[in-house]
Amino acid sequence: MSHKVRIANTDLVVNPIGLGTNAVGGHNLYPNLDEQQGMDMVRDAINHGVDFLDTAFIYGPRYSEELVGKVVKEIGKRHDVVIATKAAHNFVDGEMRMDNSPAFLKQSVDEALRRLQTDYIDLFYIHFPDEDTPKDEAVGALKELKDAGKIRAIGVSNFSPEQLKEANKDGYVDVLQGLYNLMQREAEQEFFDYTKTKQISFVPFFPLASGLLAGKYKEDTTFPEGDLRNNQAHFQGEAFRENLAKVEKLREIASQKQVEVPHLVLAWYLANDAIDVIIPGAKNGSQVQSNLQTLDVTISEAEYRAISDIFA
Ligand code: NAP
Repeated sequence: MSHKVRIANTDLVVNPIGLGTNAVGGHNLYPNLDEQQGMDMVRDAINHGVDFLDTAFIYGPRYSEELVGKVVKEIGKRHDVVIATKAAHNFVDGEMRMDNSPAFLKQSVDEALRRLQTDYIDLFYIHFPDEDTPKDEAVGALKELKDAGKIRAIGVSNFSPEQLKEANKDGYVDVLQGLYNLMQREAEQEFFDYTKTKQISFVPFFPLASGLLAGKYKEDTTFPEGDLRNNQAHFQGEAFRENLAKVEKLREIASQKQVEVPHLVLAWYLANDAIDVIIPGAKNGSQVQSNLQTLDVTISEAEYRAISDIFA
């Protein structure tokens, strides 16, 4: 089954199963990444119907945008693919700080355009808030870039509820990308009423809790040095064991429905009217193809609640 969805009120219409590409050249997040494998995965994803790619300057840094841009250019389908990217990390004299100043955001968009080898970015996010730029001024700069045709839609990410409201003073924000998965549910209370009222689409990041919700890890699973999962609380000690037990309960629901755990989890997000699209990450083409099977999964209201309750 394949159906397209519109992201908020934008003119971006995509397969609701996108692809997060922080493991495509994201050497600063995962050790030993093979860039060729990352590019093959992006190509494979597009060939199987994925048309929404999520990247960022800081994945690499730079490499993810470069590799994604290279693949999209090579296969000659720029207009069939919606590319989202993000910026805010500013390196000055070797020091990194967040920067939402209009000048930095405009420079970042120009640099991302070069790395992506394109003349427009479909969705551009301010990746993280800085401390001093008024958020409506930052978004005002993105509105100018939108009017100039350099970006097609405006996003913010990792903003607090107050920062989002300030950013959206003039109603220009199309998308909020934030942490949200079955285990980490603060966004429900903090954002969903506001985003739904303002017709802002919420894009959850870490939808599979970095793989924990895909249902394949065991108590003795370990990750190599430098892997971001070594620093995530839900992968540590007792919390990890408790989460694995909850995933087993998900597996019971999945088996009754004769679907796989990651597809049940991903379908749970798409059943939420605050969410239009999801961007599960992957390490290879078979995970991407697997995740596309989510399109065949529908969940009833009772199943939606049962899944929610396991992690309540
Ligand atoms: P995720 O989507 O929660 O988990 C992805 C990981 O789950 C994969 O790398 C793979 O890891 C495993 N996996 C995926 N599909 C699978 C399947 N079918 N079967 C088994 N395992 C599967 O985490 P994420 O990729 O970090 O987050 C998604 C995207 O959100 C990122 O790529 C990035 O674009 C975005 N993001 C944004 C922010 C932000 O600040 N805005 C922050 C984080 C992420 P293994 O094979 O290693 O198990």
